[in-house]
Amino acid sequence: MRENQESQHDSIFECLTEIGCCERCSLRYIGVKDTSLYKNLSLIQDKFRKASSAEDENVENPPKRKKSCPCIACLDLLRDTEDYKTICDAVKAMGYDAKSFTCALSLPPSLQLREKSVLFFLSQRFPVVYSLSDFPNGFYNYVTLKDAWKWTYGTKIAEILNKKNDNSPSQDFFVEVNITYSDDEKECSCLLQMHADIFERRSKYPHKYGGEVFTRKSVEAALADTSQELFQQYYPCPPETPLVPAGYAPVSCYHNSLFVAGRYNKYSRILSQTPWVIDGERRVESSVQELISEIIVKAFKAQGSKFSASGREDVDVRTLGKGRPFAVELLDPHRVHVSPQELKDLQHEINNNAIGRIAIRDLQIVPKEELCKLKYGEEEKKKRYTALCVALTPPPPGALESLSEKVNDLVLHQKTPIRVLHRRPLAERLRTVHAATAEVVPSEGGSSESVHFILKLRTQAGTYVKEFVHGDFGRTEPSLGSLLGVEVDVLALDVEEIELDWPKEVE
Ligand SMILES: [Zn+2]
Repeated sequence: MRENQESQHDSIFECLTEIGCCERCSLRYIGVKDTSLYKNLSLIQDKFRKASSAEDENVENPPKRKKSCPCIACLDLLRDTEDYKTICDAVKAMGYDAKSFTCALSLPPSLQLREKSVLFFLSQRFPVVYSLSDFPNGFYNYVTLKDAWKWTYGTKIAEILNKKNDNSPSQDFFVEVNITYSDDEKECSCLLQMHADIFERRSKYPHKYGGEVFTRKSVEAALADTSQELFQQYYPCPPETPLVPAGYAPVSCYHNSLFVAGRYNKYSRILSQTPWVIDGERRVESSVQELISEIIVKAFKAQGSKFSASGREDVDVRTLGKGRPFAVELLDPHRVHVSPQELKDLQHEINNNAIGRIAIRDLQIVPKEELCKLKYGEEEKKKRYTALCVALTPPPPGALESLSEKVNDLVLHQKTPIRVLHRRPLAERLRTVHAATAEVVPSEGGSSESVHFILKLRTQAGTYVKEFVHGDFGRTEPSLGSLLGVEVDVLALDVEEIELDWPKEVE
């Protein structure tokens, strides 16, 4: 079988050339996967010249090469031209510093029609080689136009860009090559008719790809279950000679997101974590997110960013200690090679710009897979707080001193606080306060009845601390107020520690 196939390669090559395929298309329909042949046209000519000249004597009608017309299968995308250099110029101008790239080719739908037509033609002309049933995916093991294009131009583009052409799945930088073909719509119009007829026959199917616009997906869907007989009623096999070649539309590039992580301290009691906007109006001037992200986005030449953190604090709450872990997702960064020293400088710049408001540390690039750690353990991790509280009347003697005995893995029933009901659904959740101590702040000679004290807490993440203190009108049970038997309120709250060992410390 295999020998039989290979012995036919020369005649298949000849036949494809005759119907108007370029050398590279003829090669790829034979299924040749030696990429060096695609890179060098003369190697293909050498490989097949001998065969064709030997056979010429036996052929009754010498092949009529249609060299002046565009290739019927690739619309000249695989012909040797210098057009690919326009792609390189465009990519260079965008200034990406990625060290490798892959090209993502976007083909006009009519190229799929032409592909299908050539394959149907071959299966008729060379049924032994291209028998449809032999291959699970329907066709002989040919090389797609996209692969052949990459083999033809990948190295050439890589040389000019001075980047490695790496088509592995882990590639993060994409050069999106868009192919245009002015006769595309005209050539695809047969699909409309084909579909209308099928639709009439099986009226149970909804009209999925109606209208005048063809997308690659809709054409793929239309062709997937189309039999050769049906196809040939609407489209010529082999395809007609095109009048114009396809060309390159402006290139676009895209780099996958890069993630930068660190920890932040928040020293301001009038700063929110994310931009605080109500009814289109800013409530506070800046935010932790903006103070961190804007400088990083600029440095990495990203097109945008998404900020996330391990939980959030209220506008009037400070975050002290080692700080709160955060991550910034940089969208389409043009710069990705940033040295540890540059990261240090960047951290310095952010801190200088936000003196008294925030400070960050441990700024570093992290792999995407680590991001889950930021959200992982959201419920389990523990947090330490310090609060300045006031009891409006003096608590019973010894009540503050014995607080630590009463609060020992104390389970709270917390209904969603009134102050966050506008953005969170009403629910009752169980949260644990692991430990609490209180220490009276000596009053400065005032005659007031109220007692100030410093409360230190260790709680489960997600505990509403302010509500635990004042009780939120009975919506948190028990509360510090109910434990002490007096009315209590929070004057100031600080997060002292978020027990999450991520990201790693940077020297
Ligand atoms: Zn071609």
